[in-house]
Amino acid sequence: MNKDKNPHSALSVSKGIEQPESVNKGAAERIRSARKSPSTAAYVEGILAGNRTVLSQAITLIESSLDAHQGIAQEIIEKCLPFSGNSMRIGITGVPGVGKSTFIESFGRHLTSLGKKLAVLAIDPSSERSGGSIMGDKTRMELLSTDPSAFIRPSPSGGSLGGVARKTRESIILCEAAGFDTVFIETVGVGQSETAVHSMVDFFLLLMLAGAGDELQGIKRGIMEMADMIAINKADGNNIEKANIARAEYQNALHLFPPSPSGWIPKVLTCSAQKNQGIEDIWKNILDFKSMTGVNGYFNQRRNEQSKYWMYETINDQLKRQFYGDTEIQRAAANFEKKVLANRVSSFVAAGELISLFNQRMK
Ligand code: GDP
Repeated sequence: MNKDKNPHSALSVSKGIEQPESVNKGAAERIRSARKSPSTAAYVEGILAGNRTVLSQAITLIESSLDAHQGIAQEIIEKCLPFSGNSMRIGITGVPGVGKSTFIESFGRHLTSLGKKLAVLAIDPSSERSGGSIMGDKTRMELLSTDPSAFIRPSPSGGSLGGVARKTRESIILCEAAGFDTVFIETVGVGQSETAVHSMVDFFLLLMLAGAGDELQGIKRGIMEMADMIAINKADGNNIEKANIARAEYQNALHLFPPSPSGWIPKVLTCSAQKNQGIEDIWKNILDFKSMTGVNGYFNQRRNEQSKYWMYETINDQLKRQFYGDTEIQRAAANFEKKVLANRVSSFVAAGELISLFNQRMK
């Protein structure tokens, strides 16, 4: 969990004696990890047995940028896929300070007290830059992190939002195969990452505050539109009345949005994550959603659409990586850039030429 740790450290079994520096560090690293890491079958077996150390190690492989690790990770995912899918995936978003970690702790503990097994994952593409703004430090969710029925994993760090999101989506599969029946995906409600979370969850919960004003909360209309529920947090002390007014206002605002294809009318509820109030009602509402969308087919339809979306996302991602990672293309692109800037060739012709070159390179 410690983000300062070497992400591959979970794979090193023993240090051994000091070796002279290798002339080919990449190859040495690949050989070393292939030799020392457990086999794919051992990973899969460990995950299916619910072994969280193995689960953590497998997620580390998903998050690794080494090709050798990616290869094993993809095999593990393939093998775990038939055992995945049996969870309620819940996205939780809201601006910093709204009380996400307090809420996840309170809500998460409520669920584990009901016998649920909870995995908490996150999407925070800024985590490397900001030094781990969400779920980076251990003081958050202190009780939940020691709860034997909960598994908390910070956001994969670094890379594009698409890359971080893909890793989190793949981690969901492993968590489900390991027996977690409820998965939370946390994200900071300030930008694009909500869309990524929405594309991998069954239920999207937006946490808000009373009396802060939409602009102040940085919540865009589009994000409210994605929400399956809005919970006004910090409805405690002398904030209760304000929270109730905000609830009525948001409920009215939601009525103005076009009806959701699920047939579900999102509710606005109030809660106090700190005082554990309103938490039970939130869960009941999520269960209502699950049963309604289970009956009308929307639950599966949304998942199918998400699977399609991720297929194309992965294609886009890989094509881009191949294209921009090719040294010939890089050289040619630098040349074309100069020609475009000197008005010797149009942007479109340059793009076409580069793509033709790429096609030739792929033959
Ligand atoms: P996050 O940045 O969204 O994860 O928010 P945190 O969970 O870290 O909470 C931000 C601050 O709000 C902390 O000081 C919490 O103690 C406080 N807080 C969170 N939930 C509640 C609540 O329900 N009521 C009150 N009064 N304070 C809360």
